[in-house]
Amino acid sequence: MSLTPVRVRFAPSPTGPLHIGGVRTALYNYLYAKHHNGQFLLRIEDTDQTRYVEGAEDYILQALKWLGISPDEGVGVGGPHSPYRQSERKEMYRQYADLLIERDWAYYAFDTPEELDEVRERAKQAKVASWQYNHITRNSMKNSLTLPIDTVQKKIADGEPYVIRFKMPRGEEVRFEDEIRGWITVSTDQLDDKVLMKHDGMPTYHLANIVDDHLMEITHVIRGEEWLPSAPLHVMLYQAFEWTAPKFAHLSLILKPDGKGKLSKRDGDAGGFPVFPIEWTDPSTGAVSSGYRESGYYPDALINILAFLGWNPGTTQEIFSKEEMITAFSMERVGKSGAKFDPDKARWFNQQYLRMRSEADLAEELRPLMKDAGLEADDPTLLKAIALLKERAVFAKDMLEGRFMFEAPTSYDEKLRSSKWKPDTAGILNSLWTQMSSVVPFRSIELETAFKAFLESERLGMGVVMPNMRLVITGTGTGPSLFETMEILGKEECAQRIENGIKALHHA
Ligand code: GLU
Repeated sequence: MSLTPVRVRFAPSPTGPLHIGGVRTALYNYLYAKHHNGQFLLRIEDTDQTRYVEGAEDYILQALKWLGISPDEGVGVGGPHSPYRQSERKEMYRQYADLLIERDWAYYAFDTPEELDEVRERAKQAKVASWQYNHITRNSMKNSLTLPIDTVQKKIADGEPYVIRFKMPRGEEVRFEDEIRGWITVSTDQLDDKVLMKHDGMPTYHLANIVDDHLMEITHVIRGEEWLPSAPLHVMLYQAFEWTAPKFAHLSLILKPDGKGKLSKRDGDAGGFPVFPIEWTDPSTGAVSSGYRESGYYPDALINILAFLGWNPGTTQEIFSKEEMITAFSMERVGKSGAKFDPDKARWFNQQYLRMRSEADLAEELRPLMKDAGLEADDPTLLKAIALLKERAVFAKDMLEGRFMFEAPTSYDEKLRSSKWKPDTAGILNSLWTQMSSVVPFRSIELETAFKAFLESERLGMGVVMPNMRLVITGTGTGPSLFETMEILGKEECAQRIENGIKALHHA
């Protein structure tokens, strides 16, 4: 058995904000590496300069940092295989393309973009479904396989632009085992002669990716399903270089909530949930896309959400700390089929993480939000209020719905008033308060007992009295336990609010 340490990489292209599908790929790589005491690398694949987006690389680094998915090597950290940004490795790739030419696994192609367009157009008119540069068509194109050698040499010497294409063999089978999908077999006849080196001397994704995975000693390539069609070419490239291929694992897509297709930004906009880890401002349009961080999600909650989109522990446990996840994670438990994104479940996870936080931590989160909302509270009151409000909150900001804990109502729910407030309500509340205000100590249990005793002796229903009492105390019809709320507010404040409420509502 080989004891080669596990080395995996996350290799995003900085073409825009990282979708949560990409974050999940990073996470699974990270968990796999940590589970095996291996290394997790971050490589930036920025060879396609036409798709480069300002700020995207920085966004990726920030998102991973926020989530604590920290690379052991890579952009931002350095390491023995520096640089980890492909644009800075540009010079390195040429020799590998040349090596493939030498071995007759690649060739020069001089066809201009216009000539290629023309061929495609003609094929379209002849009703050829999709024209490919491949083992058949290359024989009638302008390349080093069809042109005399001195013509080729002259063209190169004259500086005529060319690309280097992979010479996909004819009639062979490519076979490889995907760690998630099992054995995959593809005929090379279905594969085209992909460009490895572009006119501008930049390698394409395929060449740079394989060369770097080899040089960086990557043992497992864990990436999204959208790369599965490229995997046979990659396997062939390893064969051509005579290098050992890493193991492959292609993760299934994250699907829309209804399971019909890939989760997109539009689904997020329509469903009111983010599809990006942190907020993103498009540098060209200035359009802002919401992020999990800004929506109030905890990084650990998002990690937990993403872990379960495609993996399961095989038990009923749902809440996993990062350490527990590292221990439990295995590729055998990663599913083959797409995982439906469930926005309610995502919120549920955050709620669980919020509940696990101490009141003191939540107070720290809430203080700045309260300040923005013009609210103040002393520490003991804030902590008591949080203990009550956190039960109903999914995000820290939800606790602001309990602003009546920190200030007397300035308005009263009109719908509730018109349906519940009756001419005798003021009298009832006054008598009730006489009973309740005399309890010692002024605590929720005693308040509740007094309240119920009053209802019984007056033969009044809960539904007649409770909503009105709540209305004068909080101004609203919903909230945590009224008796606990009253205990926190204290007797004097309650007396004041009841008096003011009755004044405001009785003649309204
Ligand atoms: N640069 C590719 C991407 O943007 C990486 C694919 C791979 O992991 O091989 O997803």
